[in-house]
Amino acid sequence: MSAAEARAGAPRVLGCESCGLVSANVLAGDASGELVQHCPRCGHVLRETKPMSVQRTWACVIAAAVLYVPANALPVMITVSAPDREEHTLLGGIRELWVDGSWGLAAIVFIASIAVPVLKICVLALLAWTVQLAPGWRRLERAKLYRLIEAVGHWSMLDVYVVVLLAATIRFGPLASVRPGPGLLSFAAVVVLTMLGTHSFDPRLIWKDGRRTD
Ligand SMILES: [Zn+2]
Repeated sequence: MSAAEARAGAPRVLGCESCGLVSANVLAGDASGELVQHCPRCGHVLRETKPMSVQRTWACVIAAAVLYVPANALPVMITVSAPDREEHTLLGGIRELWVDGSWGLAAIVFIASIAVPVLKICVLALLAWTVQLAPGWRRLERAKLYRLIEAVGHWSMLDVYVVVLLAATIRFGPLASVRPGPGLLSFAAVVVLTMLGTHSFDPRLIWKDGRRTD
């Protein structure tokens, strides 16, 4: 909807993302023609949708998916215990834990380092894709999916702790040392990018021009 259409139609209300205040002020168009106003209580910018939401989500999703390859292929940890030097990938670490009999720990590491990032990348791609090409498809389920990955995002730091756990469970001899591998940097970037992608996506786009029964 353009600014002119909004002014001509019924008054629209917007909720403040910062303080929660709902405002029914008249919306004004900014230089780009997008509806914008400021929260009368806290001054936060109020918008109908986040600017460039889908584009920014796609950028984060594609970058995360690309970096997920080196995150798994390259070692996340290098242990040196003279004279041996071992490189550990994420999947290799999970296999070592499993073979060692630490099944519970292997499951936690698998969920945090493999399942959760893949889930977030797939769900964000699905949300961005459906907003563009199938806006009326299963709106309620898509809204629930968004809430799911948003909730999972609160546990993103778990992914980083995984490597610390891996370090702690490897048995060291005298003069042993552990170093982060190049895969860890990619893995951390994947975590950050999926968090940014979730933040960039505007769930209000799911409901744009539609009802729950669509
Ligand atoms: Zn506010």
